Amino acid sequence: MNIPAFFGSMVFNDSAMKEYLPERVYKDLKATIEDRAALNESIASNVADGMKRWAIDKGATHFTHWFQPLTGVTAEKHDSFIAPNGSGGVIMEFSGKELIKGEGDASSFPSGGLRATFEARGYTAWDPTSYAFVKENTLCIPTVFYSYSGATLDKKTPLLRSLALINKEALRILKLFGNENVKRVEATVGAEQEYFLVDKKYYQTRTDLMYCGRTLFGSKPPKGQELDDHYYGNIKPRIKEFMSALNIELWKLGIPAKTEHNEVAPAQHELAPVFTLTNIACDQNQIMMECMKKVADKFNLVCLLHEKPFEYINGSGKHNNWSLSTDTGINLFDPGKSPKDNAQFLLFLSAVIKAVDEHQDLLRISVASAANDHRLGGNEAPPAIISMFLGDELYAILKAIDKDIDYNGPALKELEIGVDTLPHIKSDATDRNRTSPFAFTGNKWEFRMVGSSQSISDPNIVLNTIVADALNSFANRLEKAEDFNKELNLLIKETVKEHKRILFNGNGYDDAWLAKAEKRGLLNLKTTADCVPLFNSPKNVELFEKYGIYSKLELDARTEILLENYNKVLNIEANTMLSMARRYIFGACIDYIDHLEKAAKYVKSAKELIERISDELNEVYNAVHILNEHLNKAESIETNKEAAEFYANFVLKDMDELRKHADELDRIVDKKYWPYASYGDLLLRV
Ligand code: ADP
Ligand code: MG
Repeated sequence: MNIPAFFGSMVFNDSAMKEYLPERVYKDLKATIEDRAALNESIASNVADGMKRWAIDKGATHFTHWFQPLTGVTAEKHDSFIAPNGSGGVIMEFSGKELIKGEGDASSFPSGGLRATFEARGYTAWDPTSYAFVKENTLCIPTVFYSYSGATLDKKTPLLRSLALINKEALRILKLFGNENVKRVEATVGAEQEYFLVDKKYYQTRTDLMYCGRTLFGSKPPKGQELDDHYYGNIKPRIKEFMSALNIELWKLGIPAKTEHNEVAPAQHELAPVFTLTNIACDQNQIMMECMKKVADKFNLVCLLHEKPFEYINGSGKHNNWSLSTDTGINLFDPGKSPKDNAQFLLFLSAVIKAVDEHQDLLRISVASAANDHRLGGNEAPPAIISMFLGDELYAILKAIDKDIDYNGPALKELEIGVDTLPHIKSDATDRNRTSPFAFTGNKWEFRMVGSSQSISDPNIVLNTIVADALNSFANRLEKAEDFNKELNLLIKETVKEHKRILFNGNGYDDAWLAKAEKRGLLNLKTTADCVPLFNSPKNVELFEKYGIYSKLELDARTEILLENYNKVLNIEANTMLSMARRYIFGACIDYIDHLEKAAKYVKSAKELIERISDELNEVYNAVHILNEHLNKAESIETNKEAAEFYANFVLKDMDELRKHADELDRIVDKKYWPYASYGDLLLRV
C-alpha cells in the first residue's frame, strides 16, 4: 500500500490547487488562506472552475456547502453540477457565487429564538482556511452558517473568531519578549477519539441503542472490565479489518490517523490523529466520526459514539490536546532552553492557570450534555470539578515561586537563573495522571472532559477565549511596566498565589478530593441543568462581548439551545424506556410465566420463580406509572431551565428506578424469552 501516494487524494489541498488553478489565482487564494483575508471576489469564479474540474476528476457529481449547525453534527444539502445546455443535454456548472455563498431555509435548525420563522433564510459562506474535499461523489465546501440578521448559527464562526483573538493576544506577549520575527500564533489541536463497536445483529434488537445511542436497560454481565485485559490488548481480526479500512478512508481525506488501540472497556477502542491547526482539527474530527459509523456498517458492526453507552463500564471521551505554536515553529508550551524562553514559558503557563481558574464554569459548560453527565457526574474519571495537573516537578517549581523560596528539586541540576529568580525547567518535567480533567502533558494541555460524540469546537472556543483574556490582561500590564523583568516576576508570582487553588496533583476520582475541592471553593457542577444556566451570566456575557466572540443575543440563544437539547434527549430516553417496558418486557415475562406454569407440575422451584418474576413485574409496572406521570409534568413546564431541573431531579431518578427492576428480570428470565440482546452479547460477542 503506497500511503504517501493516496494520502489527501480526496482533498483540494495545496498540491491540487497548484495543479488545477492558474498561477495567479493560486497565489491569490494562498494569500487569502494565509492572511485570513476576505477572498477577492474576482478570482472566485476561477477558483470554482478549478475546484469543479478537480472534483469531477475525483468522481464528484454534486457539491454541497458543508457546515456545523448547533446540532453538534454536520449538515449538507447536495446540488448536482448539471445545468441544461438548451438542446436537451447538460453541462457541468459551478460558479464563483455558488462557491462563496449559499442560501437556504434555515428554519429547521436550532436557533434558540435568534431567528423568527419569517426570517427563515440562512446563509453559508466559504471558509477557505479549511480545505474542500470529495466524499461519496460530493464536493464538500467547508462553510460558516449565519442568519439573515447576521447572527451566527454555527460552531465554526465563533471558533474562527477565537483563533484570531488568541493570535492577537499571544503576539502581544511575544513582542514583549523580543520575538520580532513571529508573524502568527496558531492554536493546535489533536483529538483522541474513543468509541465502541458492537455487532449489528445484536444492536438491532435494541430500540434504546437505535433511538438513544445508549442502553437504557441491561444487567451487569458476569465479566466487564475487571481484569483490565482489554486496555492495549490484542486487537481482534474483525476489529483490525475495520481499523485498516477506516484508516484508508481517513488518509484519503487527508486525516493523519496515527494511533489506534483497545480501550479499557470491552468493545471500546481509540483512534488518535496527528495534531493540526484547530479549525482543521475540528473539521477532521467531524469527518472522522462520520467515517467511523459508515465504515463500521460495512463490517456489520455499529460504531457507538455516545458518551455512556453502557452502565458498569467506562464511557467514552475525547481528549482535546491543545497547544499554541508560532509560524516559526516554536511550541509556546515547550519549556525553553534559555532563561528568557523559560520565563516566557512560565508566563504562558500562568495565563492558562488564571484562565482555567477564573472560567471553570465555561469549561464545564463547553462539554455539557445529557450524555456526558453520565461520565462527569458519575463514578468515573474525570470528575465534574475542574482542576489542573502539572506534574510533580512543575508543581514544585510553582510552589517555590508562591512561597518565595528557592526551588531545589531535581531541575536544580540544570538550574539557570532566569529573569531574576525564575528557575530553568527541563522539558520532560511532567509525569502522567489519568484522572485529571485538565493535564499538562509536557508541551500541551490535555482537556479530558470532552464527550466522545461532541464537536470539539465548543471547548476550543472557550479555551482560546479564556487564555487570550488572561494574556490580554498580562500584556496590558507588562506593556506599561517600567522594569519589565521586575513586573514579570511579580505578575507570575501574583498569578500563582491567586489561582493556586485550581492546581491539584492527586487522584481526581477520590471522594477526599470532592471535600477538598469544596473547601477551596472550586465549582462542582454535576449536571447540564446545573451548569448551562451560567453560560449567559453577566461575567460571561462581558467576556464574550469584549472580544466579539458572541453577542449577548447569541449567548442567550446558545444557552436556550443547550437546555432545550438536554430536555429533548431525556424526553426521548424516558419515552423509549416506557415503550420498551410496556411493549417488550411485559410480554416477555408473561410468556415465560406461562412456560413456567407448565414446568411447575414437575419442578417445585418453578412456582417460586413465577412469584419472583410477578413481584418484580409489578414493581416495573409501578415505576412505569411514576415515570409516565413525571414525564407529563416535565412536558408541561414552560421554561427550558425549569424543565431541565425537573428532568435532572425527577425523571432521571424514575428512569433509574424502572431500570433497576427491569434489569432484575433480565437476570432471571430465560434468555430465549428475553426481548433484546444482553450486555454480554453486545460487549463480548463482537
Ligand atoms: P496520549 O495522551 O495517549 O499519551 P500522545 O501523547 O501520543 O497520546 O498525544 C495525544 C494527542 O496529542 C495526539 O493526537 C497528538 O497529535 C496530540 N499532540 C501532540 N502535540 C500536540 C500539540 N503541540 N498541540 C496539540 N496537540 C498535540
Ligand atoms: Mg491522552
